[in-house]
Amino acid sequence: MLFTLAPNTPRFQVFILLNAELIFFLEQSVPNGQFGRALFTAGAIGQTCWDNAKHNSPKAEKDLTYDKFEKLFYSLQAQPVETRTKLLDVARNTQNLSDFFNTPNRDLLAFLPKPCFESLKNITTHLYCATKDLQGILNVAGGININAHFELFRAAGVNGNICKACGMGELAVFRASLAEGEQWRADYDHQLCKSKYPLFAVHPDNLIPLCSVCNQDAKKAKDLFIREPDQPRHAFDPFIESARYFIEIELGMLRDPEPTIKVVWTTVDVALLEKLDTWDDVYEIKRRVEGRFRNLEIIIRNEIDPINYSHFESQVTHRARPVSNAVLSDKEWAFWYQKLFSTLNQVDKSPFWEKSRFNDQQADEGSDYILEGT
Ligand SMILES: [Zn+2]
Repeated sequence: MLFTLAPNTPRFQVFILLNAELIFFLEQSVPNGQFGRALFTAGAIGQTCWDNAKHNSPKAEKDLTYDKFEKLFYSLQAQPVETRTKLLDVARNTQNLSDFFNTPNRDLLAFLPKPCFESLKNITTHLYCATKDLQGILNVAGGININAHFELFRAAGVNGNICKACGMGELAVFRASLAEGEQWRADYDHQLCKSKYPLFAVHPDNLIPLCSVCNQDAKKAKDLFIREPDQPRHAFDPFIESARYFIEIELGMLRDPEPTIKVVWTTVDVALLEKLDTWDDVYEIKRRVEGRFRNLEIIIRNEIDPINYSHFESQVTHRARPVSNAVLSDKEWAFWYQKLFSTLNQVDKSPFWEKSRFNDQQADEGSDYILEGT
């Protein structure tokens, strides 16, 4: 992540409840037995899961919460009790995701036979995609659905509307004259992807709203802890670590018509470098920033549109000032433009200016003026 999540980030109660239900179910599934109501918690959450069944829903064509839990149950029952016990232990012992980021277990469920893994993935994906919206669940969670949670997440003074992973995009566009519940929302990214780590599909600390580029274009189902094809790595814990203090923008060949712009890391700490590289690989940070900044002249035209050299210089100095957290969490690209102008402010800009078309333009405009004046 470019920025850590705000310490007052609200946890989504629905995920807390569903995650607890999943662990309860795994616990009750350890002894030999039959699928039944007692596998679920006694209250409304268990009842809602139990009632959300294909046999209760005439129009349902696909398996619902009950059916998917049932399939998981019987696939587990086909295994020795030791396998079920181990699954329960693994689920219980990995609930602290900060610990998991410190010492990731990349083969968490390698012991689980494929049919069990698949049925676990099916039910947990369903909990995330469908069960979370059932009224019986929302009632227990104080009526706060995922749209309401998203508004709490991105509120000013909490995380704001800028993606924490990249600082480049808005989480979701605000539309005027609409109530909070009707606004668009960002998708929630599973930091530990649900296809490989199904135990965390509804873990409240594993789900973070990100901009669509980070979530859908860049990250997809990449594994934070394995670089393809099989190199183990570490990743920033989004609640306590971030990249923001270890980044610079480097400018090269200012005498060239097209100066080079590079994102570089400013640390030599090996563990930190590994996490920075993971972050870059997962969200394609360098490519996106260097792509955006691929032409310095165009950036300066768009951002400053200089009248003359002293205007250009004073605007660069102005734009190089540190940006407040309030702006960083509200304005797209603010972090990156400040970094760029901060670097530009520290180098001799005159060679660039002399080669740039602004200089030519100024000369042209000067001559036009002289001609018009005659
Ligand atoms: Zn993003």
